[in-house]
Amino acid sequence: MTDKITVLVTGGGGYIGSHAVLALRDGGWPVVVLDDESNSTGVLVPADVPYVKGSIADRALVAATLRDHRIGAIMHFAGSILVAESVTDPLKYYRNNTQASLVLIEEVVAAGIPHFVFSSTAAIYGAPERLPIDEDDPKLPINPYGVSKWMTEQMLADAARPSASSKVHDFNYAALRYFNVAGADPQLRSGQIGRTSTHIVKIATEAALEKRPHVDVFGVDYPTPDGSCIRDYIHVSDLAAAHVAALEKLIERPSENLLLNCGYGTGLSVIEVLDALDTVVQRKVPRVIGPRRPGDPPQLVASNRALVETLDWTPAHADIHRIISDALAWERKLADGTPV
Ligand code: UDP
Repeated sequence: MTDKITVLVTGGGGYIGSHAVLALRDGGWPVVVLDDESNSTGVLVPADVPYVKGSIADRALVAATLRDHRIGAIMHFAGSILVAESVTDPLKYYRNNTQASLVLIEEVVAAGIPHFVFSSTAAIYGAPERLPIDEDDPKLPINPYGVSKWMTEQMLADAARPSASSKVHDFNYAALRYFNVAGADPQLRSGQIGRTSTHIVKIATEAALEKRPHVDVFGVDYPTPDGSCIRDYIHVSDLAAAHVAALEKLIERPSENLLLNCGYGTGLSVIEVLDALDTVVQRKVPRVIGPRRPGDPPQLVASNRALVETLDWTPAHADIHRIISDALAWERKLADGTPV
C-alpha cells in the first residue's frame, strides 16, 4: 500500500488535468491544483480541492505552494496545447511549455520533491515511419508544440537521471506520451468544455447533437484501408488512471524513470470513428468528405506494451463506442446547461 502524499496538479482545471484530479481523489490522494485559467475556468475542479490560481512560471508562487501544501509529488499538465497555434506563434510554446516547465522543475528540485509525472505527447515522434510506435523510436517532432514537449522531457531526463550510483537531482519522473485522448468522466464530473476543440470525437458529438451541421472528414486519399487517417484513441479516464499508476510506480521504484506511450495500441480510422458514432446514436450523422488537413500524418498507433507491462493498469473503457457515448453524455449535459 502506497503512502498517500499530497499531489500538486498543474493545469488541474483543464480537460485531462481535471480527470487526473478525480482519479487521484477517487484513489484517496490529497490533491492541490495550480492553474492560471488561461484555458479553463476552475469549474471542473471539485469545490473542496485546494485551488491556487496562478502560473507555473511564477517562481515565488510555485515555491510557496510547494511549501505551504507540503507537496510530495507533481503531476504537470499546465501548458499550451494547440498544434496549429504553435506553428503561427512558436515562441508562446517555448515560453509556456518549455520555459515555464523549467521554472517548475527548478522549484521542485529546490524543494526536494521526489516524484514528477509529466504530460507529454505522441507529437514528439512526428510522422513516424514504423508502426506501432515504440518509446525509443526517433523523436522528430514536426511542429513547435511537439518540440516544446520534447525539450521538457529532455530537461527532466538530464536533471533526474537516476541510476544505482548517482543522481544529478534527487527525483524520478514519468513522461506519459498521450495519443488521441477523448471521452469524458463516466460519472460526468468532467469533460471537454469550450467550442474551440478541433478534435474529432468532440466535433462528432457536437454534430450528433446538432450543435454543428455535419462533420468534415479531412481526407480519404491516405494510404490506409478506407483512405482516412488512423489514430489510437484512449479514454480520458483510462489515461487519468495511468497517471495515478505511474505515480505509484515512481514511489515504488525511486531509482527508475518511466517513459510510456499512452494508447490502447489499436488504430481506428476517421470513418470507423464516425461509423461508431452512428451506431451509438442510431442514425447517420451527416459527414462531408473534404480535403486533407495540412500536417496530419496518415497513421499514429502506440505500442502500449511498456505501459501495460510496467504499470499496475488495465484499461476500463477501451472501446470507441464507450468513449463516444461518454463524450456524448457530457455534451448533452453541456447542452442542458447543467452546472458542471
Ligand atoms: N479529423 C477530421 N475531421 C475533424 C477533425 C479531425 O477528419 O473535424 C481527423 C484529423 O484529420 C485526424 C483525425 O481526425 O486525421 C484526428 O484528429 P484530431 O484533431 O482529433 O487529433 P490529432 O490526431 O490531430 O491530434
